[in-house]
Amino acid sequence: MGGMKVKFMGAARTVTGSCYILETQGHRFAIDCGMHQGMAENETRNWDTDIYEPRRIEFFLLTHAHIDHSGLLPVMVKKGFRGKVYTTTPTRDLLEIMLLDSAHIQETEAQWKSKKRLRHGENRTQPLYTQGDARAVFPLFVDKKYNQPFEPFPGLKVNFQDAGHILGASVVELWVKEGARESKIVFSGDIGRPAQLLVEDPSEIRLADYLFLESTYGDRNHKDETQSLNELAEAISFSYARKEKVIIPSFAVERAQEVIYSLYLLSKDGRLPKDMPVYLDSPLAIQATEIFRRHPEYLDAPTRKILQKGEDALSLPQLRYSQTPQESIAINELVGPAVVISASGMADSGRIRHHLRHNLWREGASVVFVGFQALGTTGRKIVEGAKTVRLFNEEIAVKAKVYTINGFSAHAGQSQILDWLGHFQNQGMKIILIHGEYKAQQVLAELIRKRFGCEVCIPDHLEEITLELGEKLRRVEFPEEAAPRIDWTFLLQDLEGTMSQLRDRKARLESKEWTEQAEIRDRLLDLKRELSEIVAES
Ligand SMILES: [Zn+2]
Ligand SMILES: [Zn+2]
Repeated sequence: MGGMKVKFMGAARTVTGSCYILETQGHRFAIDCGMHQGMAENETRNWDTDIYEPRRIEFFLLTHAHIDHSGLLPVMVKKGFRGKVYTTTPTRDLLEIMLLDSAHIQETEAQWKSKKRLRHGENRTQPLYTQGDARAVFPLFVDKKYNQPFEPFPGLKVNFQDAGHILGASVVELWVKEGARESKIVFSGDIGRPAQLLVEDPSEIRLADYLFLESTYGDRNHKDETQSLNELAEAISFSYARKEKVIIPSFAVERAQEVIYSLYLLSKDGRLPKDMPVYLDSPLAIQATEIFRRHPEYLDAPTRKILQKGEDALSLPQLRYSQTPQESIAINELVGPAVVISASGMADSGRIRHHLRHNLWREGASVVFVGFQALGTTGRKIVEGAKTVRLFNEEIAVKAKVYTINGFSAHAGQSQILDWLGHFQNQGMKIILIHGEYKAQQVLAELIRKRFGCEVCIPDHLEEITLELGEKLRRVEFPEEAAPRIDWTFLLQDLEGTMSQLRDRKARLESKEWTEQAEIRDRLLDLKRELSEIVAES
């Protein structure tokens, strides 16, 4: 029987873990290989990768370098994947530094967990992958330019087009021949925001039988760029006047460079005080900036013009790079105003956590969020108004002024997604929404149905669908996923039982050491927060 099968390994009703396995005519390959991030429930998926059947994947097509689209490649190689990884040249260059960085984070986390486990008399934790595993991916890369179609096997043509999201990011076009029929499938990857600094606007694509569309901002529009630039200027003048710091959690790639570009624009306008140092505290961001300079042909016309004039939009007179941990720590010992750009962008790992610990509780300081904050991350908690957040086993008060500037987003907002959809001209295109939280996807799906009259579906994790021209999308329930009835009565009684056991142990809790009590309290508070969310949602 015909038709192409697509299985959703991640970024289905959530934003991370992008990976879609396609099967056609005896071939099996995948688009993206992203790490699952955010909620603990998502992160456990990184350890359960046998279901990808890595040995049976012939090759990967990678849309871009972000870890939520690429971060599981080392795991695949570790588990026997030996095929090619097709992607654009800048994506390959960025991946070489990003996968090593990701491996380093995995190693550090495992070390930290091991210490704790050894203290409890348990075994060491192994990292998800090591820097060696990451390096094993590099020889598999095959780099392509935009609009340089290629054929991984007879009957499949692939083309990368500029997605306008980050350097080298692509929309992937696939032409699949099955017998006499050819269908065109498009994976949007992450669609950039038009007028984004540094990269071109997303390419307009006119034809697709099936479109796999990202929906990160399906329920929201962005503020415009000028307003965002003004807000950044406001944060700077607020903290400068109070002799405090502006902390900017930022993805190391693209966003960090855009933030510097924005500061460059503010500085030309006289809106960045000359005596306010700017620290780029991220070795990865520093390396990424070099890769941007190496590929000017992938930058947009305005940026190329600035570079041709001999100016450097990726630098500032007061910009200082901090490479080593010592240099990073030194920033926190420094008194007086400064701008600190550091990763990770969602504040759940990396050096930024130190800067937040030192500044979140200070009243004149500012924290400026310039990117999407996934559920469960420290960034999301701060943005949603948490009074305190937990950093390095310590509860830190949030007294700094918090700015959320989504006009710097590297994702199209709702109306921009719809505009991009407007370029497709064929009748009967079917849309599969991916890479978005379910609530946002439902809003976007409704708008698309109303405006374009297309069939839209929102597949769930590990679901499988069949694409067959002229037929409705067929959703195949996967046996291991086929949901048995949930026994709510039992589940709720069981929960209550556990609660009453805990109540019986109150005296024992009270007799524990204070730090241990505080840790248990925090875990319970997290639980309570989650429970309240479930109550609110039901
Ligand atoms: Zn991305
Ligand atoms: Zn993404």
